[in-house]
Amino acid sequence: METTLVILKPSALLHGYVGQIIQRFQQKGLVIRGMKMMQLNEAILNEHYAHLIDRPFFPNLLKSMMASPVIVMALWGKDAVEVVRMMTGATNGRKAAPGTIRGDFSMSGQENIIHASDTTENAEIELKRFFKPEEIFDFVPTSIKYTYEPTELL
Ligand code: UDP
Ligand code: MG
Repeated sequence: METTLVILKPSALLHGYVGQIIQRFQQKGLVIRGMKMMQLNEAILNEHYAHLIDRPFFPNLLKSMMASPVIVMALWGKDAVEVVRMMTGATNGRKAAPGTIRGDFSMSGQENIIHASDTTENAEIELKRFFKPEEIFDFVPTSIKYTYEPTELL
């Protein structure tokens, strides 16, 4: 079992899509182990998007990510990183498959509704970036045995 980081971006909050997106993760069977609203600033975004800092769109990406508060989520489940990335879809909303979050809610390569960690290594780093240890809960819902079969939980 693993935990991944999702950010509901300003494009989700400003369009009023927060409820629909959280619903998708819950109905899939991912467990919310942490969730909070926060206003991002340049310092944390320079770190989070360090791989893009030299790209021409970076100043617009900063503005876009600071346009409103965001909601950060820690989602727990088997292969959670891969499952959430599949649910997220391709970076550009116009290219993302229908049925994915970006495919269903976005027309943009930048205003693409959510961030999701791309590897288990990055998930660990990103969870530490956005959450204090006490903000993530070791919570296992009693319904878990109807979400997975026993060997999947090992
Ligand atoms: N982005 C952008 N223009 C691009 C590529 C990326 O504005 O040509 C933004 C977009 O919001 C994306 C974020 O930068 O979600 C991070 O880019 P990355 O390549 O890591 O894509 P992701 O992992 O979000 O699919
Ligand atoms: Mg990325």
